[in-house]
Amino acid sequence: MPGINRIKSEAADEKSQQSSSELWPKDGDEVFGLIVSDGNDDNDLRFDKFYTHSVQGKRDDGSNLWKNSLCPSKEEEVCKLCDKDVRPARKFGFWMYVNYILHKEKKNDSWEAVKKRASGEVQYKEDINDFRVFSHGFGSKDYLFNQVVDIFNEYGSLNKYVIRIKRTGSGMKDTSYAITSTTKIFELPKEMQTKVKELPGIREFFKKQWSPRVQTSEDNKDAKLLTQENDELGLGDIDEDPTESLF
Ligand SMILES: [Zn+2]
Repeated sequence: MPGINRIKSEAADEKSQQSSSELWPKDGDEVFGLIVSDGNDDNDLRFDKFYTHSVQGKRDDGSNLWKNSLCPSKEEEVCKLCDKDVRPARKFGFWMYVNYILHKEKKNDSWEAVKKRASGEVQYKEDINDFRVFSHGFGSKDYLFNQVVDIFNEYGSLNKYVIRIKRTGSGMKDTSYAITSTTKIFELPKEMQTKVKELPGIREFFKKQWSPRVQTSEDNKDAKLLTQENDELGLGDIDEDPTESLF
């Protein structure tokens, strides 16, 4: 019989693997990489639209914690949160092979200083060379999603060239993103060709990402109650404040 500790540690491993696959650009970051899907194939779920609920909860110490969950209502299932009039947010997401991220500030010794040719601005380059999920709301009047549509209309495919995702601003109301195409061509390294086929669909990825955490015996009674309630609603824990990505 599998031991509780093994299950717990496996669950924690899965969770940390998943979280590290999500892309969270900070103010001034520029992400460069190749979208995995070409945008033509309706059955390629590695680029997808989905609905989420974000509900505020409390940690054991009383601090706030946001809980995210996939809203199943759009997949013709009953959604307990929609039934309670909690409005879902519409988002899109895709897998990309991220080459590197340019940062405004140096926060790691391994990041190499690079200079922008035109402006002379110095940025710090973090090499990634791995797959990451980018997701976001469609934006006000769908501005952000329409930038992706523009790339598709211009080139007939989303993955002809390396794209650039730039985040400007850090607050909930003054943050905007720009997704544009470069003219750089990049072919996936051979060792990534198998891995790319094994990437889960975007909904599947978030379903796992937000699955309710494993209950531990050290948790206090309040936390247990909260977790039970969240289990019923299918909510998991997240540490990042999702409000900034709602708009
Ligand atoms: Zn719902």
